[in-house]
Formats: sequence, C-alpha cells, structure tokens
Amino acid sequence: ESTTVVVIGAGPAGMTVANLLQRSGVDCVVLERRTREYVAQRQRAGIVETRAVRMFDSWGLADRVLGGVPHQGILELRVDGEPHLVSDYDGSEGPTARLCPQQMLVQKLTAEYLANGGDLRFEAADVSLHDLTGEHPTVRYRTADGHLRTLTCDFVAGCDGDHGISRTSVPDGALTPYAFDHGIGWLTVLADAPPPAHPLLAVSPQGFAAHFPRGPYTSRYYLQCPPDDHPDAWPDDRVWDALRTRLGDPALVSGPITDREIFRLRSLVHDPMQYGRLFLVGDAAHIVSPMGGKGMNLALYDADLFARAVRDSVHDHDDTALHTYSERCLRRVWNDQEFSHWMTGMLHDAGDATGSGPFRRGLARARLDRLFTAPGAARAFSELMTGLEFG
Ligand code: FAD
Repeated sequence: ESTTVVVIGAGPAGMTVANLLQRSGVDCVVLERRTREYVAQRQRAGIVETRAVRMFDSWGLADRVLGGVPHQGILELRVDGEPHLVSDYDGSEGPTARLCPQQMLVQKLTAEYLANGGDLRFEAADVSLHDLTGEHPTVRYRTADGHLRTLTCDFVAGCDGDHGISRTSVPDGALTPYAFDHGIGWLTVLADAPPPAHPLLAVSPQGFAAHFPRGPYTSRYYLQCPPDDHPDAWPDDRVWDALRTRLGDPALVSGPITDREIFRLRSLVHDPMQYGRLFLVGDAAHIVSPMGGKGMNLALYDADLFARAVRDSVHDHDDTALHTYSERCLRRVWNDQEFSHWMTGMLHDAGDATGSGPFRRGLARARLDRLFTAPGAARAFSELMTGLEFG
C-alpha cells in the first residue's frame, strides 16, 4: 500500500496536518495508537490563540473546527489578592482567539477529516519507521486484529507527541536536544465548577495558582507544588483551601473534581525538526512549559508550515519550504520558549514559594509593576500572547 504522507498520531498536530493536506489535495494516512474515544477525551489546552485562529481561517476551517466562543482578550493577574486586568490581544485586524478546549478541537478536526473521506486508522500498534533517508520511507504497524501492514510513502509527519516513536526512530546524534527543568511542579485539577470572569493567574506567598474557563460550568485550576509531589497528597479539601488562599477569594465556589494530576514544568527543543523524509511536528519536537498557553498553538503552526511545504513539493515540485521547515518552525519555538520562560519566572519568583530568594522576588515584582504601568511593556505582552507573525 502506498500514500504520499503517513501521519503518526491523531492529536492536535496530526489532525491539523491531515486536514490541511486533505484540503491541498495531498493523500495521507493517519496512524493513531489509541482508540477514537480515548483521543477525543484527552483534556489539556483551552485557548486557540489569535494567530492560530487566523491560520485556520486562511484554510477555510476556522468556523468548522473551532468553538464559537470568542476569548475576550483580557487576563487577570492577581498579586497578593489585588486584581490587575491586562490585555492579551494586540488589537490587530481579523478574527481573534477562541475558547476551544483541546479535546473539542481534536474531535472536530477528526470529524471534518473523516466526513471528507480521510483515512484514519485507530489502534495502530507497534508503529515503526524505516528508510527515512531514502526516496520512499516505509511505515509498519499492526492492526487491532493483529495483522501486520506496511505503508510506503514520500514523507512521514511525526505528530506523536513527546513519548512517541517518531523522534526515537532518529539515530542518536542526528538531533540536538536543548532541555530545561524549572524545578517547579503544578497540580492541575479539572472540576465542574463555575469559570472565572477572565482567565486568572495569581501570585501569592503560598505559591502560584491559576483558574481558567473550560466550559459553561467547567474550570481548570493550577497550584504550584513540589515537582515530586503526589496527587494523593491533595485531597479535595486541601485543593479548595489552597485555591481560596492563593487566589485571595474565600468565596470561591467549589465543585466535583473530575481529574487531578501533577507534572513538572520543563522545556525541551530538538534541533533540527527533520531527519531525511521524517518531519517532526508539535510536541514530538518541542515541549514548552505551560505558562502562556503556547504548546498546542505551536503544534498548530508547525502543522501549517509542514502542510504548505508538502503542497509546494507535490504540486509545484518546489522543495524550498521543506528545506527551511525546521529553521522557520524553530524561530517561533524559541520565541515562545523565551516568553513562557519569562512568564514562568515572573509569576513564581514574585511569590517566592520555591525559595528563589528576595533578590529574584524583587526583580519579578518590578517586571509585574512595569507590565501594569508602562504601555510599551503591556503592548509587548499582548503581542506575544496574540502570537507573533513570522514569515
Ligand atoms: P499530543 O497531543 O501528545 O498527541 C500525540 C498523539 O500521538 C496522541 O494521540 C498519541 O496517542 C499518539 N501517539 C503517541 N505515540 C504513538 C505511536 N507510537 N503510534 C501512533 N500514535 C501515537 N498548550 C496550550 O497551547 N495551551 C494550554 O493551556 C495548554 N495546557 C496544557 C495543560 C496540560 C496539563 C498539558 C499536559 C499540556 C498543555 N498544553 C497546553 C500543551 C498541549 O496539550 C500540547 O502541546 C499538545 O497536546 C501537542 O499536540 P501534539 O499533537 O503535538 O501531541
């Protein structure tokens, strides 16, 4: 069996690649390890940023795959209980950010691709990649009923996240990893409880906390904690007490907690994002710490650049964009890494619960003060939240 592109993974990156290739008239097959139900339920990101909305719009997909709820462009930064509203929209022309939980985006992308006759194979086990530096790589996998299959293709899109097989199929030494561990953990909790008026990030001496909308009666919360902490150490009462204290809101309404996990804040970039005819897209190539909400959005931009590059190659026999794919993606990746790192430092050091010390606390508070008072600093922040335009 042969196709033009084999896409590994049906998350935000893989399903965006698949839809954009389909719209470009390029054949592809998507292989996903999990079931459709499992993928459709994986809840993580919540906002598709302005530039990413415009990216979907340019493909005629925005209204088909994004929820209809516009994000108002305002964030609350609460410092020791005192509210400060900042704009996260730079005022540029065109459609703006949408509140669109990641699983809704993936569900809609999947439905759109299948409705247009797309080839998507769930429960593909033991996926392996071969001949990546040759003219026609092959991809082997095992179907749910145990049959071995081989696909021959021109390109492989590695969209299988940080724990997938695409990146680990690249020989040692071909990619350089750049990693950073912030030494910070976040407990994240999803609950059936009223969302805040605006996405809310809070600095307090007890540690960072955040409260984000995820639906009309659903919220996601974050609480800074030691990176090796365990979710069992956070029973419901402790979660709600800590949120009320750190958000400075004794009247915060609680609700049933539906998900609870702890993860380390870490950042990772692989350079280049290509090996032979394998192109890494999204989390398979880079992880950005969650502050600033850039991870999924970066995956969407990579997908756009990759699909356009393949379209040029297949229809116009022009490989220029394929050759510059990694360099162009990495420019944006490093930019967002820097923004996320800056924001992570500011909102944790200002509370100093990690013990980063009074000097760093003073610097972080000066950055916040500048953001609240200097129009140029506020403008830079809103541009970075909107998503910078790169050629
Ligand atoms: P993934 O979503 O990891 O998808 C990879 C897919 O590949 C999966 O479906 C997986 O099952 C499949 N797969 C894996 N291995 C194989 C294999 N061997 N064979 C076949 N298929 C395979 N980002 C934001 O922009 N904003 C946020 O607010 C935000 N919040 C987050 C909160 C949390 C708690 C977490 C963990 C992440 C958050 N992110 C956020 C980051 C965002 O979720 C990721 O950047 C995004 O999921 C990346 O998409 P992806 O398609 O590259 O990878």
